[in-house]
Amino acid sequence: MAYVINDSCIACGACQAECPVGCISDGDIYTIDDSQCIDCGSCAAVCPVGAPNPED
Ligand code: SF4
Ligand code: SF4
Repeated sequence: MAYVINDSCIACGACQAECPVGCISDGDIYTIDDSQCIDCGSCAAVCPVGAPNPED
């Protein structure tokens, strides 16, 4: 399992600062390295648009 950031990301950067393992990269939309994500949910908790969600 890992979280995935969807197209609603507005690239605010809030999630990157909260990730305990530093697996979120910036870009036009931010992206999560699914090999490092520990599924903690911190990114989803701080995102203003609800872009990070648990992968199916
Ligand atoms: S769920 Fe946790 S470990 Fe995974 S990307 Fe979000 S903040 Fe980082
Ligand atoms: S907190 Fe949400 S909107 Fe901001 S960069 Fe992260 S995923 Fe994108």
